[in-house]
Amino acid sequence: MAKYEFGKYRLDTEKPDATAIAAILADGSTDDILFAAANAVKAREYGNLVFVRGIIEFSNYCRCSCAYCGLNAGMKMTRYRMTPDELVEAAVETARVYRTVILQSGEDLYYTADMLADIVARIKARANCAVTLSIGERSLEEYKKIREAGGDRFLLKHETADAALYQSLHGVLLDSRLQAQRMLKALGFELGGGFMVGLPGQTDMTLANDLLTLRREGVVMAGIGPFIAHPDTSIGQAADGDAHKTLKVLALARLLLPRCHLPSTTALNVKGGMKDALLCGANVIMQKATPYEYRKLYDIYPGRDAKDVPLKEQFEELEQRLAGLGLRAE
Ligand code: SAM
Repeated sequence: MAKYEFGKYRLDTEKPDATAIAAILADGSTDDILFAAANAVKAREYGNLVFVRGIIEFSNYCRCSCAYCGLNAGMKMTRYRMTPDELVEAAVETARVYRTVILQSGEDLYYTADMLADIVARIKARANCAVTLSIGERSLEEYKKIREAGGDRFLLKHETADAALYQSLHGVLLDSRLQAQRMLKALGFELGGGFMVGLPGQTDMTLANDLLTLRREGVVMAGIGPFIAHPDTSIGQAADGDAHKTLKVLALARLLLPRCHLPSTTALNVKGGMKDALLCGANVIMQKATPYEYRKLYDIYPGRDAKDVPLKEQFEELEQRLAGLGLRAE
């Protein structure tokens, strides 16, 4: 545990204080010190390695009504689902290039726990990779089946630690999300959490509490990305989250959770922040491995990359880009 000084503010990582974190976020005069400190901790913990994961977005059906999300149940859009066979083949192919395969979808109950467990077991039988699920909230019994079939990790962000804001954006309780995270952890999944920066109504104090929530819930990964307004959603006219503020939150996350896997999130990459993120604490990149015909349809927010570059080529391009920054893809 360490103590950092940022001008007149102190961050004691043993006893972090939300007010001090919020003050550091509000003050722009020590950002360079913050970024350098985060980069040093990242280098100490992970050297020059960047872990690259392949993500397959296998269904854009969703039962939820998250106000910010382009996949929400009320959106009029072309929906798709990959068949289990198609998904297993895509995952095995992805595992030839990436060591971790992330299976992500809207909350789509078409895929029962038995189906998901079977998909995971078939992938694990054929590929030497870690399997991460990112499919939203399910019951303990459903999570258990997926875990027993070999699911290694689970990404479920708390999205915002402000309970009133959470409820206004989702129409359901933050507590249910936190309970789901706790179930996943108790089942032995490596838990990934995270939240958005710049949601309408959010303050620096909310962000400080977001960071403390990651610590309290014991996440080992955290996706921290800017909110990007999707024009067809009910909050589509709100301003996007600020990329610089997101980098500051990311850097603080690295100081507060030194070993945590922190991706340069897709949303931050859309805002041109990948290089900066990798130099202020991020140690993970998620690359699209969704079959080309579905990429454009997974329209969470505008600006997402839908290029059809073969996986191997995509990885090699990234390796070169990282080498230019003195980093090594793993
Ligand atoms: N359904 C799963 C879940 O809720 O965990 C996974 C899919 S969900 C689309 C993945 C993530 O997208 C969410 O955790 C949320 O943080 C992010 N997201 C959705 N809409 C966004 C937006 N407009 N701007 C930034 N991130 C967004």
